[in-house]
Amino acid sequence: LTFKDYGLDEEIVRALETLNYEQPTEVQRKVIPVALKQQDLIVKSQTGSGKTAAFGIPVCELVDWTENKPQALILTPTRELAAQVSEDITHIGRFKRIKAVALFGKQPFAPQKAELAQKTHVVVGTPGRVFDHIERGSLTLSRIKYLVIDEADEMLNMGFIEQVEKIIKQLPKDRVTMLFSATLPEAVKNLCRKYMSGPADIEI
Ligand code: AMP
Repeated sequence: LTFKDYGLDEEIVRALETLNYEQPTEVQRKVIPVALKQQDLIVKSQTGSGKTAAFGIPVCELVDWTENKPQALILTPTRELAAQVSEDITHIGRFKRIKAVALFGKQPFAPQKAELAQKTHVVVGTPGRVFDHIERGSLTLSRIKYLVIDEADEMLNMGFIEQVEKIIKQLPKDRVTMLFSATLPEAVKNLCRKYMSGPADIEI
């Protein structure tokens, strides 16, 4: 099985070749076909399994390049992870010219706001800073169709779950939600029950 078998855009396949991703990893084999069908997903898997591309590939494939407002929102527990995920999305979407913006704290607000004012397909950020941008009116959520919650158990450990929930409440209801977590504590399962519909359960 190769990435071509998923019927991905030629621009995405070419980017994966450039990254030397020859074959999908296990989490990618399980996630990509379901995500491409736009079904909600709960994925129990560890970091290092290739999970970023497992959601990054379908997000880059499904995003409409012609739309100017953000279509995908990816929430991460840490600044480092937000930066890494944003970079990975940029690599996967390079030939489709997907624009990803990373939003995290301890950075000046104005340059992030200026970036968001331009065409942006994917926003990756930590809950606190994402919420700041929503409150200040610099992040438009009306076109968000894809929500990814990455490392949900870490969000919980760091006390971000309430903030994540506040963000979800502002998103369009007609969207696909994917949650990734190494473990599924009750508070994370609750979040899934409240904000997903008929999710597929995937365990690696
Ligand atoms: P992650 O679990 O997303 O942090 O990914 C772990 C590492 O695997 C990263 O360095 C990725 O660049 C790499 N990777 C992801 N998918 C593939 C693949 N299909 N083939 C080879 N390397 C990959």
